[in-house]
Amino acid sequence: MRKKIVAGNWKCNTTISEGVELAKQVNILVTERGAKDVVVVLGTPFTHLASVCAIVDPDRVCVAAQNCAAEPKGAFTGEVSVSMIQSTGATYVIIGHSERREYYLETSEILNKKVALTLAQGLTPIYCCGEALAIREAGTENNFVKKQLEETIFNLPAEDFKKIVIAYEPIWAIGTGRTASSQQAQDMLAFIRQLIAKKYDQTIAAACSILYGGSCSPANAKELFSQADIDGGLIGGASLKAEDFLAIINAY
Ligand code: PEP
Repeated sequence: MRKKIVAGNWKCNTTISEGVELAKQVNILVTERGAKDVVVVLGTPFTHLASVCAIVDPDRVCVAAQNCAAEPKGAFTGEVSVSMIQSTGATYVIIGHSERREYYLETSEILNKKVALTLAQGLTPIYCCGEALAIREAGTENNFVKKQLEETIFNLPAEDFKKIVIAYEPIWAIGTGRTASSQQAQDMLAFIRQLIAKKYDQTIAAACSILYGGSCSPANAKELFSQADIDGGLIGGASLKAEDFLAIINAY
C-alpha cells in the first residue's frame, strides 16, 4: 500500500517565530484531528528547520527542506548541504521545484546530484516535475514530463528509485489559482505510473507515492484526492494557513 502524503511548501515565507507558530498550530491540529493514515510534511525555509523539528511530534509531522546543495560540503558559499539538513532532524528534501529550475537554472545534471546526495544521507527526495503552459497548450506535456523523468530519477537503480516521492506540478497551476482538473491530474499521474512500470516494474509503480501540486485548496482537494493515482499533494499557498492545510490533509 503506497503512502498518502500531504506536504506543505512554505517557500520564502515566514520569519522563524512566525514559522514556529505555524508549525505549532499544524502540529496541534494534526495530532488532535488529522487523518492518521496521511503522512504530513512541512517544507520550511532552511533557517527554520531545526526550530520546527524541535516542536513537532515526529510521529505525526515530518519536516522537509525545500532545496539542498549539489555538493556534499566545501567551498560553496551560501549553500546548505544534505548532511546539514539531516542534522536539523528534517527527513525530506524537495528537489527540482519549478521555481528552482526556472529562477536558479537547475538542470537535470544538478538535480541528479541533489537526488543522489539526499538518498545517500538517508533522506527522502520529493522530486518535482511538470510542464509550462505553452507545453500544455501544444499538447506535448506527456513527452515533456517523460523526458524530465528519464533525465533524472529514471537513472536510479530500482532500490533507490523505491525511496523517491514524485510531485507532478504543472507550472501553469502553481500559485495561479488555476488548478488542473482532477481528470488532467489523474491522467498525468496515471501516465507517470505507467512509465515507472515500464522502466522498473508494476510492483514498484504501484508502491510509488505520486503527488499533485498546483493551487490545491480545501475546496478542490477532495475531488483531486479521490482520483485513483493521486496519492496526496504538494501544497504552496494553502499550507501557510494551518486550518486550510488540515482541511487538505483530511480531504481523503
Ligand atoms: C508549489 O509551489 O509547490 C505549489 C503547489 O504552490 P500553490 O499550491 O500555491 O499553487
